[in-house]
Amino acid sequence: MEKKESLNLLIYDREYELFFSSRQQKIIYGKNFILCSALFRNLYVIIEDVLRDGKMPAAAAVEDALRSFYREVNQDDEILDMPITAWNLTSKMLYWLCGSDPEPDEQGMVFYFAEALGLYGLIVTWLDPWEVAGGQVNSKKWLGDEENNFFFRKRCRQFHVNPTVINKQFTYYHDSPGILPLCWAELLYALQQKQKASICLYCNNVYLFPSNNYQKGNCGQPACRRANLIQKHGGIKGYNAWEAERKKNSSGKRGRPRKSQTNR
Ligand SMILES: [Zn+2]
Repeated sequence: MEKKESLNLLIYDREYELFFSSRQQKIIYGKNFILCSALFRNLYVIIEDVLRDGKMPAAAAVEDALRSFYREVNQDDEILDMPITAWNLTSKMLYWLCGSDPEPDEQGMVFYFAEALGLYGLIVTWLDPWEVAGGQVNSKKWLGDEENNFFFRKRCRQFHVNPTVINKQFTYYHDSPGILPLCWAELLYALQQKQKASICLYCNNVYLFPSNNYQKGNCGQPACRRANLIQKHGGIKGYNAWEAERKKNSSGKRGRPRKSQTNR
């Protein structure tokens, strides 16, 4: 099934990750969930269509999004992984969300899509203490559903666990000929580390909650913090009025708003 002798590595260094794709021959380094974040960023439009509007995705749109995910992490838009074909589960899940059965399609795009939704749902259900990202889901019945586990269990058989030492600390890495299994490996690692995480509604990156603040409502990048504040103040007009008032009160000083105002 998986092509060639490719071997992709995901190495954990506490709250950071290194991803090495054998094709790309370079390391991507960043906070945890590098791969899931790339997946959700690329599939964002269709995920949103389904979760917010109950719109069934077109196979071609799923394929485009999936290829751009592979291109981003692997420098090649070849879809490296075989789909997990679970017709009953997939059609049940999409029926719940979209109210109609998906059309069977030769490329199996519907399975990839159900898998990405399942991963999204389980991150929100298992790792997000407040289900920040779950708020936009119009039907949460499938979230945390035992059957949703199906993709998780299947993909976990497609990577290996290897112990290693980084910076004198014991850790491990996962390797797989594919890339989608390593997305699920990120979820497994977070569960084992008892991390709390959610998906930023503004940029679709998965972010970790600090252990002392489970209220964090976005990933914390300046653009997402601002988008969150605009939403909180009912749009750009309300935000500008609040911002003007805030500057007046702080005698024109610029800077971070007080903590109690930035949270959610
Ligand atoms: Zn964000």
